[in-house]
Amino acid sequence: MRLTRLALRNFRNLGSQELEIPAAGVAIVGDNAQGKSNLLEAIYYLETFRSFRGARDEQLVAFGEGVFRVAGTLEAEAEAEEEGSRPVEVAAAFERKGKRKKVSVDGVEPERVGDALGRLAAVIFSPTDVELVSGGPGERRRFLDIVLSLSDPAYLRALQDFRRVLLRRNASLKDGLPPSVVAAWDQGLVRSGSAVMTARRRWIDGMCGAFREYYAAVSGGAGARIAYRCSVPLDGAATADEAEGAYREALLGSGERERRMGTTVVGPHRDELLIRLEDEGDDLDVRDFGSGGQRRTVALALRLVEARTVREVGGQEPLILLDDVFAELDEGRSERTLALMEREETGQVLLTAPKEGDVRIRRDALPRWRVKGGRISL
Ligand code: ATP
Ligand code: MG
Repeated sequence: MRLTRLALRNFRNLGSQELEIPAAGVAIVGDNAQGKSNLLEAIYYLETFRSFRGARDEQLVAFGEGVFRVAGTLEAEAEAEEEGSRPVEVAAAFERKGKRKKVSVDGVEPERVGDALGRLAAVIFSPTDVELVSGGPGERRRFLDIVLSLSDPAYLRALQDFRRVLLRRNASLKDGLPPSVVAAWDQGLVRSGSAVMTARRRWIDGMCGAFREYYAAVSGGAGARIAYRCSVPLDGAATADEAEGAYREALLGSGERERRMGTTVVGPHRDELLIRLEDEGDDLDVRDFGSGGQRRTVALALRLVEARTVREVGGQEPLILLDDVFAELDEGRSERTLALMEREETGQVLLTAPKEGDVRIRRDALPRWRVKGGRISL
């Protein structure tokens, strides 16, 4: 997918600007604290309608203003264009006072925000990605949920159902209501929860090889793998019915424990995406033993896998957003990342760098923008 136009109003320090985005992409160069990441944050907002940095919507409204708005015009890649597709405008606005978010596609508000997710087919790489690796299991579940929701609307629906039912079920447990009352939620929990777990398992199993390749390519031959650790033993479950059966059985088996703890203790909310470093016969958890560079390499490989998912599911090149990505990699890793990206990511690229010398991808092919105090100049 290609972003051809971006219109901004009161998003962080970016003021009101309309930008034509070159087809190949652009390199955004500027000193610290000028608005480089803000610009990528605004663009990626159109993919997930949230800040990629985890900021609340209120924080995105320019100081002293009441509303921000971001709108982007998208066009399919050249080949897909022949099939009669036309540009699409995705827009989002947020009002601070009423905490109201409005999303539209070609001016039409979808029934749910979820229906407009993933239009941009964008993937963002940022130094904060290391949190994916170093943070708690919730960070990695969030990663899975975003990647899978963007690529499969059925996943998003199952996830939302699951969360809703889990909340009610946990409330019953917390209040110490009789088992028969708690069990009233089990059917809904089991159906949505097993759909979520099955999709996570399928994705992780399917992408394990790609992850290994990316990690090896960037690290210069080292081994790493991702694996799914689920609180429900899904191993034997080949069909949806079997997965539901496995979840139901796990719930039964944990009845005593969940009454004691006052909360549901098995299910996708307790999943973990394991990341293991394999080194000369060792098999170590990256969270416990990974160096800074190894963590950054894992994070990079996860984003590359995400880009691959977008490519496979959507049948088009993802829009790649790179926020100062070479900042903390050693020379060898930077060079190999570059080589890999040049090979894999052939779509539009928008990258930020504090100095001209840090623009390393498509050095000659990308036009330059300068940013100062939130103003973009060519
Ligand atoms: P670095 O190179 O350090 O990563 P950057 O160019 O990426 O810098 P940004 O994170 O894009 O910097 O911008 C940071 C600036 O944006 C801060 O100085 C901050 O004051 C300003 N800013 C953040 N939120 C708002 C807001 N809601 N309204 C106005 N300005 C804001
Ligand atoms: Mg920045």
